[in-house]
Amino acid sequence: MNAPETVSKNAQFLADTHEVINVSRDLVDYNLYQQDAALQEAVKREGAAWAQDDLLAFGRLAGSADYLELGALANRYGPEFETHDRFGNRIDLVKFHPAYHALMKSAIEHGLHSSPWTDPGPGAHVARAAGNYLQGQVEAGHGCPITMTFAAVPSLRTTPSLARLWEPKITARIYDPRNVPDTQKQGLTIGMAMTEKQGGSDVRANTTRAYPVGAEGPGEAYELVGHKYFVSAPMCDAFLVLAQTPRGLSCYLLPRWRPDGTKNPLQVLRLKRKMGNVSNASSETELRGALAWMVGEEGRGVRTIIEMVAMTRFDCMVGSSAGQRAAVSQALHHCSIRSAFGKVLNQQPLMQNVLADLVLENEGALALTMRIARAMDNRTDQHEDLLVRLCTAVGKYWICKRTPNLTYEAMECIGGSGVMEDGPFPRLFRESPVNAIWEGSGNVQCLDVLRAMQKTPEVIQAFFGEVAKAKGANATLDRWVGALQREFSDLADLEYRARDVVDRMALGLQAALLVQHAPAAIADAFCVSRLGRSGHHNYGALPRSADCQKIIDRATPRM
Ligand SMILES: Cc1cc2nc3c(=O)[nH]c(=O)nc-3n(C[C@H](O)[C@H](O)[C@H](O)COP(=O)(O)OP(=O)(O)OC[C@H]3O[C@@H](n4cnc5c(N)ncnc54)[C@H](O)[C@@H]3O)c2cc1C
Repeated sequence: MNAPETVSKNAQFLADTHEVINVSRDLVDYNLYQQDAALQEAVKREGAAWAQDDLLAFGRLAGSADYLELGALANRYGPEFETHDRFGNRIDLVKFHPAYHALMKSAIEHGLHSSPWTDPGPGAHVARAAGNYLQGQVEAGHGCPITMTFAAVPSLRTTPSLARLWEPKITARIYDPRNVPDTQKQGLTIGMAMTEKQGGSDVRANTTRAYPVGAEGPGEAYELVGHKYFVSAPMCDAFLVLAQTPRGLSCYLLPRWRPDGTKNPLQVLRLKRKMGNVSNASSETELRGALAWMVGEEGRGVRTIIEMVAMTRFDCMVGSSAGQRAAVSQALHHCSIRSAFGKVLNQQPLMQNVLADLVLENEGALALTMRIARAMDNRTDQHEDLLVRLCTAVGKYWICKRTPNLTYEAMECIGGSGVMEDGPFPRLFRESPVNAIWEGSGNVQCLDVLRAMQKTPEVIQAFFGEVAKAKGANATLDRWVGALQREFSDLADLEYRARDVVDRMALGLQAALLVQHAPAAIADAFCVSRLGRSGHHNYGALPRSADCQKIIDRATPRM
């Protein structure tokens, strides 16, 4: 008679298989700005203290669970493309998940696409870079059209008649994703189309041709015939495009609709199947007599569009630094909760070494990025202008290239769960190589550093002048700079040696900034680990002198 009772007790016991203990939890509902001491210091130092309140408010929004979820959703449900509607009309329509639109709307309403143009002044680029750094930790893909819209303005300004017409709507804080002519909208987004099948780095190989409709020259109308093999964010309202005329490669502004309200034949053939950057649609297109207006001088297309490219390269520095911070925050958070072998992971000496090393990488990236932002705010000063010219290439090369390995190491800090698709790391990891490849791949950036040195030799004095601000404060850095200077006394084979030289420039500049501005624990460990040893090392090989606990405490986000 007692048997059934025994069975039911056992069944209840068996159903309750285990207690879930010693696991991490989502890093959500924290203030991304308030919990980032390095960012707050950089914002104040580089001239945007006035933006603190706005950044605090934006940091709270960006760190909220709902907002962070938008980033995951926009990538889980990627864009879909339709050439025609159900009646047979050509529509070239890319449909995005509502989460993508929500992020676009927020970015635009916070002025991430335009604030330095609409509200220029001390710290304008710094404040925008800080906002972008926060938004970039939430989601990277929508950052592509935000950056391109922002970056198009300097190129457009080379042709005042076009800028007068377009700039007010490009810089307006209004997001209007409708697939309708620009004349029906109050806010516009801008893309860029340079790359063709036969060449992306070497755009001089472009075969797309431009034919004048009537008068020729800047601001005049042309029709473009050819193709563009990479056109990201094809739902942008207009694109800066390169095409050939008899006088050479020229730049054009090409809207998706003609002024008469018909579709401009920039036809999307298909969307790329990318391994990362999923929320952002990137397309292959053909131009079948698409109407466009010349921007800048005929035959000076590269000169004109380089104004835009310089800005997009800077945003690659911001974006990759943000990706680093997102990954390092996750690692620090997880290791502050999870225990193994009787101790919380962030108290295990070897894990401390890894975590601190990751933090140093991100501190260096952020310091360099924000210094260049300040230089962008002060381009009337010759030193600052030279720094922008040289160090955007240095920083874009170095920071973007360092990000994939950092992201992987941060993923490893999580252990097996780090690999799972329902966590943030697969997305962060897949995103991590992209910035290094577009907007001028690694070698192209290094060659650009050499080009800047050849065309404007003063850039190198500006570089060493900047680094010299830290002279005498750290003997390892002083030795590093001395050796780097000797590299430039022998210019033979400089193209072959360009990566080595640019690596060393980037590290020297990062170290000089940290020595001047970061807490001693950060600066000392950065110099001794990056400048004090020969050869490369895996993360987690900091020498004994590093104060890992201090470095980790400073960077760990608290919910
Ligand atoms: C996700 C994504 C989105 C993109 N969106 C756009 C877009 O919206 N608009 C657009 O115009 N383009 C876009 N691109 C294209 C991108 O800018 C190009 O892929 C990039 O510029 C490289 O060009 P490529 O692919 O033709 O490679 P290549 O030019 O063939 O280069 C291949 C490799 O050779 C190296 N190399 C080139 N020249 C030299 C040299 N002289 N010495 C040594 N090494 C050299 C490069 O660094 C690179 O590593 C996008 C790319 C990606 C991945």
